[in-house]
Amino acid sequence: METDKGNILVLATGGSIAQTSPSDPTLTGEALLAANPELKEKFGIVVEQIAQVSSPDITAEHWLGLANRINKAFTHDKVRGIVVMHGTDTLEETAFFLHLIVKSDKPVVIVGAMRRPYALGADGAANLYHGVALADCPEARGRGVLVVLNSEIHSARDVTKTTINLDAFKSPGCGPLGQMVNGRPIFYRRLERSHTLWSAFASDLRRLPSVAIVCSYVGVTPDILQAVASSAYEGIVWAGTGSGSLPKAIVPTARAIVKNGLAFVRSSRVNCSYIRRNDEVDDDALGFVTADSLSPQKARVLLMLSLNQTNDPVKIQSFFDTH
Ligand code: ASP
Repeated sequence: METDKGNILVLATGGSIAQTSPSDPTLTGEALLAANPELKEKFGIVVEQIAQVSSPDITAEHWLGLANRINKAFTHDKVRGIVVMHGTDTLEETAFFLHLIVKSDKPVVIVGAMRRPYALGADGAANLYHGVALADCPEARGRGVLVVLNSEIHSARDVTKTTINLDAFKSPGCGPLGQMVNGRPIFYRRLERSHTLWSAFASDLRRLPSVAIVCSYVGVTPDILQAVASSAYEGIVWAGTGSGSLPKAIVPTARAIVKNGLAFVRSSRVNCSYIRRNDEVDDDALGFVTADSLSPQKARVLLMLSLNQTNDPVKIQSFFDTH
């Protein structure tokens, strides 16, 4: 990193914010910032290209690379904040992973765009500006990883993509943490759950355990769960109906999976459904973990990190109760 610049580090990974056609993202982070030289100069931005993919193609290797780069960059006192440019499809998963694994209270802000750079009413430039301005703000410190689109500031824990419109990102049941007004953040609330410096997870990860999500639906049969359990997975997140429920026909298979040493987390396919423990089933007796209010895709992230430390369901539950 240059020493005369680099107050704000922008890490580009691709996504529609960098996409000029329906194919892969072609614009680099450098090219996107070159379109706005005042922004680059004002905030002393340094750009690095970490990947150039649409976000469905983001992998665990990208996550580990991003986490290492961010943690290393924050060892430089000069770096005040980091912005990650990311496709919106899986943005919430990357954001939550970083939220649990970045070991700094300095701001990390993830931005994307719902419209491509040359589309009418493209939102990428404004989102990037808000992301950089937020990453430069002392008020943004200690709040975990933040997501900014459409002038709203969301916590990585709660945010999810809900539509493909401009206001796609919402935090169901919680609302945004704040909003950007005239390039400054206005915050209304803080997150209660552990993250970043205060999370239970170490940052020096080499690999992430493989965890699958199995979705429930009318008529779901045990064979699909069994097929996943027989593959090389170390844990399964059940995206159940309502409060994470399972059909009675599934329970014996799930019980056998846990007996064989796999972690089984009950979550819900319903946005922001709180999973009541020992309500739908006897989770304690079955050795199930319940996902609190995390979506299946966020529960998967937390389970991957938990499994790096333990496969004791009681200990894993304590991570879900506190993160
Ligand atoms: N396909 C895009 C992606 O990379 C969608 C987007 O960025 O809005 O996720």
